[in-house]
Amino acid sequence: MKKFKRVLVANRGEIAIRIFRACNELGIRTVAIYSEEDKNSLFRTKADESYLIGKNKGPVEAYLNIEEIIKVALKKGVDAIHPGYGFLSENTEFAKKCEEAGITFIGPNYKMMDQLGDKIKSKKVASRVGVPTIPGVEKAVKSEDEAIEYANICGYPVILKAAAGGGGRGMRIVRKKEALLDEYRSAKNEAKKAFGIDDIFVEKYIEKPKHIEVQILGDNYGNIVHLYERDCSVQRRHQKVIEFTPALCISEELRQNICNDAIKISKAVDYKSAGTVEFLVDAHGNHYFIEMNPRIQVEHTVTELVTGVDIVQSQILIAQGYSLDSNEINIKSQEDIQPRGYSIQCRVTTEDPINNFAPDTGIIDIYRTGSGNGIRLDGGNGFTGAVISPYYDSLLVKVSSYSRSFEDAIRKVRRAVKEIKIRGVKTNAGFLVNVLSHEEFKKGLCDTGFIKENPELFD
Ligand code: ADP
Repeated sequence: MKKFKRVLVANRGEIAIRIFRACNELGIRTVAIYSEEDKNSLFRTKADESYLIGKNKGPVEAYLNIEEIIKVALKKGVDAIHPGYGFLSENTEFAKKCEEAGITFIGPNYKMMDQLGDKIKSKKVASRVGVPTIPGVEKAVKSEDEAIEYANICGYPVILKAAAGGGGRGMRIVRKKEALLDEYRSAKNEAKKAFGIDDIFVEKYIEKPKHIEVQILGDNYGNIVHLYERDCSVQRRHQKVIEFTPALCISEELRQNICNDAIKISKAVDYKSAGTVEFLVDAHGNHYFIEMNPRIQVEHTVTELVTGVDIVQSQILIAQGYSLDSNEINIKSQEDIQPRGYSIQCRVTTEDPINNFAPDTGIIDIYRTGSGNGIRLDGGNGFTGAVISPYYDSLLVKVSSYSRSFEDAIRKVRRAVKEIKIRGVKTNAGFLVNVLSHEEFKKGLCDTGFIKENPELFD
């Protein structure tokens, strides 16, 4: 059993603050790193110590500089690094270099990340253990001829996806064969720019699916539990906007099947730490594995609210060697996880919905959020006087509600989002209220096409 004294968070914004808070609760000293652009950012002040990195390197590069981050960690006597989400969180090389430097990487082992970080490899793992995957060719396309061949095998419409993908990038829907090669080239280009790897694969495009994902926790001793599912179907450009739990669009039987399949995949790789297994569910109630994310996710809050499990604390405890059934984590068995009630999370961003969700920048003149009964806020960069730069994720604050009924969880989160007053930068708060007021949303039946197909949400 290790006992962490100091943990460095190789991230910024709301997730850095979320992790500092968990460390604080566990009596661990926190270390922040920040770029020149983040000199006045809030997250930095929430850590016990903070260090400037990436001088003259660029705002994003600063958080991607493996050598420098490890150097700071070693110099400051850090025991472990938490990567958050995005940036280096799924970078196998980073996880490996941390271990080599004698620093614990708070997440799964790098060898396991290698199997799961790549979507083609993870589909193969799922197929191997008999979990349904989306029909497609589980190989990277090597030439334009192969792109045509694989698309024909799948049958149109198809979706081209980047093996290293994330955040909906490198993804293209192709409905007719005439459009295939143009879309293939552009997906390849986008993947190269975003991930440095331009492997593309082809699978069947599922019309109007629901996105259902399962939260997993595994310890170092082979114990794995699931914390049930989240419905993340409300998306724009394949990116999540509102997430909730439990999912209302699936039967109890399907819920159990999906959760069991998530466990099967996790067991197949002997999964350690927190992870998420993602599925699509088609209009006929068939579910298909799409990917596994070996890291904490933005929407983990809703699962925490209904299960009472602190997922970030659990990650840190697991990394120290605590078992799931230890008194510190206190999950004695799968039956111990009994979710209660309903939780909904809205991502409030500095984006302009009517301008195709383009990120807005500027200085925040007024910053007031809504809280109150049944509301949890996970804030990052928002305060009066904060500078919103164009360099980073546009997430400003996550507003999550909890109640014993779905209707009331909607009422609470809607009320809290309506209370928000932010001036100086545009936000999507009004748009979120429109989604929360929509009949389709109230029934819990939105599919991934919901935002695109309902222009009245933008009024
Ligand atoms: P990323 O890692 O970029 O987030 P995912 O594989 O998780 O990509 O998919 C993100 C979203 O893209 C899904 O939630 C879904 O809306 C859409 N999507 C992915 N694959 C398919 C598919 N085969 N058919 C229809 N939609 C898909």
